[in-house]
Amino acid sequence: MQSGIISNHGHDVAWLDSIGLGLNPTQVLNRIEAFNPDAVLALAGDASWPNDVRFLRRLGARGLAPKLILSGDVPRFEPERTFREIPYAEAILADFTSTGAVNHWMGERSTPGLIDRALTHHDNPGKQWTGGQARHDLIATDRYQLPFHAGRPFGSVLLNYGCPFSCNFCNTGEIPYKLRDIDEALAELRQVHQMGLKAAYIRDATANGKRSHWLAFCKALAKEKLNLMWNVFCTFQPFDAELAQAMAKAGCTVVQFGFETADQALRAETGKAFANEAAEAAVRYCHEAGIRVCGHFVLGLPGQSPNEIRASGAFARHLDLDYASFNLATARPGTELRAWLDGDESTGGDASVGGYEGGFTALSTTDLQRMRREAIIRFYLRPRPLKAIMNDTSPSSWRHLATTMRAFSRAF
Ligand code: SF4
Repeated sequence: MQSGIISNHGHDVAWLDSIGLGLNPTQVLNRIEAFNPDAVLALAGDASWPNDVRFLRRLGARGLAPKLILSGDVPRFEPERTFREIPYAEAILADFTSTGAVNHWMGERSTPGLIDRALTHHDNPGKQWTGGQARHDLIATDRYQLPFHAGRPFGSVLLNYGCPFSCNFCNTGEIPYKLRDIDEALAELRQVHQMGLKAAYIRDATANGKRSHWLAFCKALAKEKLNLMWNVFCTFQPFDAELAQAMAKAGCTVVQFGFETADQALRAETGKAFANEAAEAAVRYCHEAGIRVCGHFVLGLPGQSPNEIRASGAFARHLDLDYASFNLATARPGTELRAWLDGDESTGGDASVGGYEGGFTALSTTDLQRMRREAIIRFYLRPRPLKAIMNDTSPSSWRHLATTMRAFSRAF
């Protein structure tokens, strides 16, 4: 998004994806030095914060990050800590869809979506966003794989930003929901198609947050006949057969739902008061439309007992999902869980070192990890998920299978 916004303002953009390219810190520093930027926008987050701070201090010491603006969950939700630990940062970009960063660099007074050094959050009002087309040409798409689309390279395109819901373990709900102009999103998908990519990831946290807008987008995309296969996150309520059919006609092959738990009361406590019957219906609508379903579950939510955690694994199997992701509860910055743990002072650390994992139940992190492994094994040793993984026997699919097996081995 920012690559499009900054380019639209007439500036050259270089994008250094050091993780994707597998660069070590010295190689990253050398590349930045060679580019000699006039301004730097850097992403730093909870999963890698200690390393990010070390690196950004090195970058600053060498004078390679002029007019540094930071983005990511720690800067967004813990700005005071961010400015304290990286004192030379000029501002924080709290809204990816805003022009705040480029306005700041150009010396303009209006900087929507920025948090300044006085910790003032400059609002970026409105229920819609537009940013031009992201610079997909800058991204090393061959460096990324998803367990979908037989591992083909994909283009990531955002339609709607933020989320209209609010879950206690997720900070995306703290970001106001904004709709993107459908024609602009379609133009970006045409760009992805023209680059020769066959797959796309619609990056919305909740694509169907406004049903009419999402349905209109799917119908318009179907008319484009781009033949892109894509996956997307939706909520399973409200969700219906008409949506599933329209999504399938537009090329959707996988939809991802956050079911979180088998326990309706606990799911409601986390922020989604959706019934299990709605989950069953949503999966059925998708399967009837020919769309595979990936379900996400959070293990170790506050007060969850071992039997309740096992019930989530059983629910994933009962729903007959094609893919399932079992994640341990962590306290991300900006979430209710983080505030609760910080107040409780029962544990410390950050998600990157597992400091908060296991802090919500009587179970140890080791026990939770063991239960997670059990859930994965019992889920994937079944016909439907195995078929979804195998998908087809194209050469790319066999490469994908090898990658998937490596990913599984990391979970054990
Ligand atoms: S978990 Fe999903 S529905 Fe809940 S706040 Fe996050 S993005 Fe929204």
